[in-house]
Amino acid sequence: MNEYLSKVLEEVKEKNPHEPEFLQAVDEVLSTLEPVVNAHDEYENIALLERMTEPERIITFRVPWVNDAGKTIVNRGYRIQFSALIGPYKGGLRFHPSVNQSIMKFLAFEQIFKNALTGLPIGGAKGGSDFDPKGKSDNEIMRFCQSFMTELYRHIGPDVDVPAGDIGVGAREIGYLFGQYRRIKNGYEGGVLTGKGLEYGGSLVRTEATGYGLIYYVREMLKANGNQSFAGKTVTISGSGNVAIYAGQKVREYGAKVVAMSDSNGCIYDKNGINLDTVKRIKEVERGRIREYLKTHPEAKYYERTGADSPIWEIKTDIALPCATQNEVTLNSAKKLVENGCIAVGEGANMPCEKSATAYFLANNVLVAPAKAANAGGVATSAIEMSQNSMRYYLSFEEVDKMLENIMINIFKSCEASAQKYGYGNNYVAGANIAAFSKLAKAMKAQGIV
Ligand code: NDP
Repeated sequence: MNEYLSKVLEEVKEKNPHEPEFLQAVDEVLSTLEPVVNAHDEYENIALLERMTEPERIITFRVPWVNDAGKTIVNRGYRIQFSALIGPYKGGLRFHPSVNQSIMKFLAFEQIFKNALTGLPIGGAKGGSDFDPKGKSDNEIMRFCQSFMTELYRHIGPDVDVPAGDIGVGAREIGYLFGQYRRIKNGYEGGVLTGKGLEYGGSLVRTEATGYGLIYYVREMLKANGNQSFAGKTVTISGSGNVAIYAGQKVREYGAKVVAMSDSNGCIYDKNGINLDTVKRIKEVERGRIREYLKTHPEAKYYERTGADSPIWEIKTDIALPCATQNEVTLNSAKKLVENGCIAVGEGANMPCEKSATAYFLANNVLVAPAKAANAGGVATSAIEMSQNSMRYYLSFEEVDKMLENIMINIFKSCEASAQKYGYGNNYVAGANIAAFSKLAKAMKAQGIV
C-alpha cells in the first residue's frame, strides 16, 4: 500500500476500533487499489478515500414489539446509508441476532462497490436488526416488521433509499414491511422495496437472481480460464437459504452435482447429489433444519458443526460456493479445500472468506469469484424490479433472466479487464475492487466536495 492508502487505513482503524468486520472490508478493498491511486495524485487533496470510507448517514432506532405471550421485547434497528453517489441508497435488510453496527457497515460498504459493478444507477446501503426470526410465529414476525417499518419509513422512498431482503428477510417479511409502509404513506409506492411478491409489484427472477447470477459469473470465470465448465464437476454449497438453493438449481442445470449443503448447525452430504426440492421444502415451507433431510434420504450423511470451521469445507469438491455468511471460510478450511483439489470458489455470501483464506486460494491458483461481483445479480434484479415499478409494466421471466445473465457477463468482463490492466492477472478480487472504485472515484470527483 502507498502512503496515502496506509494513512487512510490507519485513520479508519482509529475511528472505528470496535468494528472488525467493517475494518476487514475496508482493508480488503484498499489493499488492492495502489496502482489506481498511484496514478491519481489529486485524490489525497480532495480526501477521496476518506469520504468513500465514511458513511453519509447512520440511523439506529428502537424496535419495540409484543410477543405471543404478551411480553414487550425491544430490538435495535439499523439503516446505514453509506453512499448515494450514483443512485438512491440500495441494499438489503438482515434480521439475525449477530447484527451490529460493524456488520451493517461492512455490508453497506461492500454494497457501494457491488452496485457500481452492476452498471445500474444504485447507491449503497444496508440495514436490519438483531431480531432473531428463528422459532417466531407468523404473527410475531408481522408485529416485528410493522414496528420496524414504523420507524424506517421516514428514512426511505423509491428515489431515496430502497431496501430489500438478506439473511432472515425473505418474501414473507418484505410483504409485512411493504404493507406497513403503504398504510403509513397512504399510497402505492411500489419501488420503495424490492423482493416483493409477484401479486403486488415484484419481479420475476428476483427470487432466483442472486443464486443464478453467481453461477453465470462462475461459468464465465471457468470459461476464461482454460475453457472449463460446470459439466461433470462436484459442487459444495454452504447455507440452504435463498442464495444457496437457487445457485444449486442452476449448477444442476449446467450438469454439475451438488453433493453438500449446510445451515448453522451442520451439513448434509449426499454422494448421489442433493435433492434440492427436499431442501426447499424443509427450509422454505417447514422452516426446519437441514439435518431433517435424512428423514427422506437416509443414504445421506449429516455432520454436526462443532467448532469455528464448518464441516462442509472438509468435503472433497471441485467447486466450493460459500452462500451462508461472512467469514465462514477460515484459513484452515481454505487449506482443506486446496488439499482436496478444489479449483474454484464462488462467493454467494458477502465476504465469506477470511482475508487469509482468500490469499491462500489465490496463492494456490484457485480461482476466486469475489462476492462484490459474483453475488451482484440479486441487487441488479432489484434494480430491474424498480424499473418495472416505475414503468408500471412487467417483463417476462425470460426477459429478466436474459438481462441478469448479460449483466453478470459484463461484470465478469469488467473485473477481468481491470485485473489485467493493472497487472493482477486472473485475480478477480482485485479486478472487482478496481473496476468499481474507478467508476465511483470519477463520480465523486465530478460531483465536487460533498
Ligand atoms: P437466508 O436467510 O435465506 O439463508 C441464510 C443461510 O445461511 C441459512 O442456511 C442459514 O442457516 C445460514 N447462516 C446464516 N448465518 C449463519 C451463520 N452465522 N453461520 C452459519 N450459517 C449461517 O439468507 P440469504 O440466502 O438471502 O443470504 C445468504 C448470504 O448471501 C448472506 O451473506 C447475504 O448477505 C448474501 N446475499 C444475499 C442476497 C440475496 O438476494 N438474498 C444478495 C447478495 C448477497 P440457519 O438457518 O442455521 O441460520
